[in-house]
Amino acid sequence: MPDLLQIGGATDEMNARVSAAFTIQKASDHADLAAWLAEHGDRITHVQTNGHDGVKPEIMAALPNLQMISCYGVGYDNIDAKEAVRRGIMVTHTPNVLNEEVATTAVLLMLACYRELLRDDAWVRSGNWEAKGNSPLTRSADNQTIGILGMGRIGQAIAAKLAPWNPTILYHTRSEKDVPYQYVGDLIEMAEQSDVLIVITPGGASTHHLVNTEVMNALGPKGTLVNVARGTVIDETAMIAALSEGRLGWAGLDVFENEPKVPQALRDLKNVTLLPHVGSATHETRAAMGKLTVDNLLSHLNDGTVISPVPECQ
Ligand code: NDP
Repeated sequence: MPDLLQIGGATDEMNARVSAAFTIQKASDHADLAAWLAEHGDRITHVQTNGHDGVKPEIMAALPNLQMISCYGVGYDNIDAKEAVRRGIMVTHTPNVLNEEVATTAVLLMLACYRELLRDDAWVRSGNWEAKGNSPLTRSADNQTIGILGMGRIGQAIAAKLAPWNPTILYHTRSEKDVPYQYVGDLIEMAEQSDVLIVITPGGASTHHLVNTEVMNALGPKGTLVNVARGTVIDETAMIAALSEGRLGWAGLDVFENEPKVPQALRDLKNVTLLPHVGSATHETRAAMGKLTVDNLLSHLNDGTVISPVPECQ
């Protein structure tokens, strides 16, 4: 059986299917992975990884016979797809099967900010309700202007999922899309017009710190920033300053610049809702992602075809 290098975790179901076709080599089993790869790297033909771990350049370089990388996740900013194409390595990911779940996470974060979910939960648990009476009023999430940065598969799912709140949806991308929402060519302009800015672009160099001080100042003291994309898309230091100084109102964040490290200054803020990168993390959606990850591997092994290649490999 061919050897598959497994980077990061996999579910039991994934392992059961993969182990029927490949000899699994777990990266985590090797304390000195570089040394192990120097000796055995030429055996590896397939890699299974995830969006967070990706494939580090030195690992890819140590696999001379690598044919395919299957990523358990849609974001593949930690895999050098251009280098893979140059070497004739196929890269696949898991688009679409997670759209609705990530959209739910975005809506959840927005609503948690508007209705002060964590503050009011704490109000009940702490006994404040009995001791001090009703908690302060919150803001209505109805009829808001919502700017979506990124209008791809998930951006469109977010816009659709927000419909019951009767929003006005604006969006910003590099190229205009065929969607029933208003395109705004300038991100600062969109932030100025928006009550909420939802970030759902890919990560990587092209979107690094796209949401900077100017954008956050434009969103303003009554503005809410939601990030379900990648932590790198927002200048986190500038965001903490904006939230602390009241230049930005609220933030709902699933992703961070240096995960799983989250700055203490951010954890101390009351006007933020923080999630540990769980955008797609339900049993149902992870099962669908796992199935597609393995389907891609087995299909490639079987006849060289794949189901969901990354755009660079199409
Ligand atoms: P798509 O490729 O379908 O959509 C990406 C969108 O971002 C496109 O509309 C694209 O438009 C836009 N975009 C890309 N670069 C820029 C830029 N520099 N400026 C403005 N807009 C840009 O991807 P998906 O919707 O499937 O996924 C988006 C991302 O969501 C993933 O790459 C991943 O990082 C993140 N994600 C996070 C999860 C979580 O757990 N929180 C789970 C799943 C995904 P255009 O090219 O015209 O600019």
